[in-house]
Amino acid sequence: MRRRTFCKTTLAAAVAAAIPGCGRDMPPAAIDVGSLIPAVSSAGEEISIETVAIGELADSLSGNLYLQADEGYAAAKRVWNGMFDQKQPAMVVQCLSTDDVVNAVDFARERNLLVSVKGGGYSYPGKCTSDGGMMIDLSQMSAVDVDADGMRARVDGGALLSHLDTATLQHNLLTTTGVVSHTGVGGFTLGGGMGRTDRMMGLAIDNLLSATVVTASGDVVHASEEENDDLFWGLRGGGGNFGVVTEFVYRLHPFNPTIFGGGLIYDVDKDFLEFYAELLDTAPDEANIEPAFVPGEDGNMIASVSVTWGGDHAAGEKALASMLAFPGLKGGELGPKSYQAIQTQLDGVYAHGGQNYLKSGFLNELTPEVIEIMVDFVNRGSTVSWFQHLGGATSRVAPDATAFAHRKVAVNFGIEYSSQDPAQNEAGIAAVREFYYALEPHMAGFYTNLHDDTEKKTWGNYGPNYPRLVELKNQYDPTNLFRLNANIKPTV
Ligand SMILES: Cc1cc2nc3c(=O)[nH]c(=O)nc-3n(C[C@H](O)[C@H](O)[C@H](O)COP(=O)(O)OP(=O)(O)OC[C@H]3O[C@@H](n4cnc5c(N)ncnc54)[C@H](O)[C@@H]3O)c2cc1C
Repeated sequence: MRRRTFCKTTLAAAVAAAIPGCGRDMPPAAIDVGSLIPAVSSAGEEISIETVAIGELADSLSGNLYLQADEGYAAAKRVWNGMFDQKQPAMVVQCLSTDDVVNAVDFARERNLLVSVKGGGYSYPGKCTSDGGMMIDLSQMSAVDVDADGMRARVDGGALLSHLDTATLQHNLLTTTGVVSHTGVGGFTLGGGMGRTDRMMGLAIDNLLSATVVTASGDVVHASEEENDDLFWGLRGGGGNFGVVTEFVYRLHPFNPTIFGGGLIYDVDKDFLEFYAELLDTAPDEANIEPAFVPGEDGNMIASVSVTWGGDHAAGEKALASMLAFPGLKGGELGPKSYQAIQTQLDGVYAHGGQNYLKSGFLNELTPEVIEIMVDFVNRGSTVSWFQHLGGATSRVAPDATAFAHRKVAVNFGIEYSSQDPAQNEAGIAAVREFYYALEPHMAGFYTNLHDDTEKKTWGNYGPNYPRLVELKNQYDPTNLFRLNANIKPTV
């Protein structure tokens, strides 16, 4: 908060006394310059931060700063996954500009304060928050400017996917965004960015033209193919390891906002999964076919398949005809649909605040062994699981062209638990893990955005790109200030 607001808050008693000139009626003798608040360092040690310095930081911001006792703190620190929402950062710096981010980063670095960065706050493993650290909250930086003639969009680092889709679709333009519209562009893009159009247009990172980054040193660096291309390479799949991205620029593609597609329902059996395996081998780039295994109305598991065809409708009807002819079809239909309606149809299912746990992995193909495991575990009914359809344009980028190495995979497969009741967590998490560990030997790595794993697995998951990522980390974040992510460890 600006100094004026800052002094009005519940913390004011402690802090106002510590900020010269803040309490207007207070004589200079009353200033308690020794006041401290508890916090946590990067290394997890307990530290204290001087309230005078916090006041100065607050004063330097155009956005707000919240401490734990402040009205507005709970809302500002809120994250999507209820499993992590109880965490209590020592302070939330709600930035409105790149300068605010610079001030926050300088403050944290100088005090070795633990830092988390919140874009949309949609991290499954809760990487955007912490106990005792500084949360750099970008949620108020959400503007999108579309240059329709230049076919590009400039997007603030805290925008949501809905902001981007809404702005671009008005111009019959699009870039790849994900399947739940309130996810943040920040974490989504930096991890790779899969969505219903990635087979036509590539991942979000394949459409990234440039980024503005506040690095650990507090420098503002522009990265693109022309400028700091090494950093630009690392940002495209290396997550939030190299700094806070305050602005993304994306390439846009012509796109009819009315797509051909819909939802189809099938039984979950070997025949259906073999049919899906064939579709994965033969589907044109315009087709995005994503089964989710969920309980049907009678409680038995069904395959609820989201189908999106992003090209000419007549061609889509022809290409997808086999899906309607397949004997296991139980219901649903295909036809013209609003793309934005499809992009928002899962928003309610993935509302804020639930208890959520997910493990996922990439699969190169659906082998008979994989199909057998899936049919068995899905029909136990103890998890929900789903595919994200990859290949097409995503696979025509070399694995070392960006930091995202998983270019040759056919699908991402996610297994999830979600509940409003924390008492169910233990059983729900155990069911996800059992299914996942049965499939893991068949998987080709995982999407770093979706779950947390051991350091060794996380590093291995960057594949042959890891050494180059370590070099970049050494250059841009040698003290590992940005560590709450799929972390790359500096070696300097
Ligand atoms: C319901 C749901 C649906 C999803 N669907 C998809 C999907 O369709 N496709 C897909 O690819 N992924 C999907 N994801 C995964 C998603 O990509 C990640 O959860 C991603 O991290 C969300 O971005 P965020 O900005 O909301 O994350 P946050 O939780 O805010 O941050 C996650 C990580 O990214 C870093 N970060 C965020 N913004 C910035 C920034 N501007 N600069 C630097 N670092 C930053 C944070 O430090 C943190 O480490 C989904 C997740 C959920 C929960």
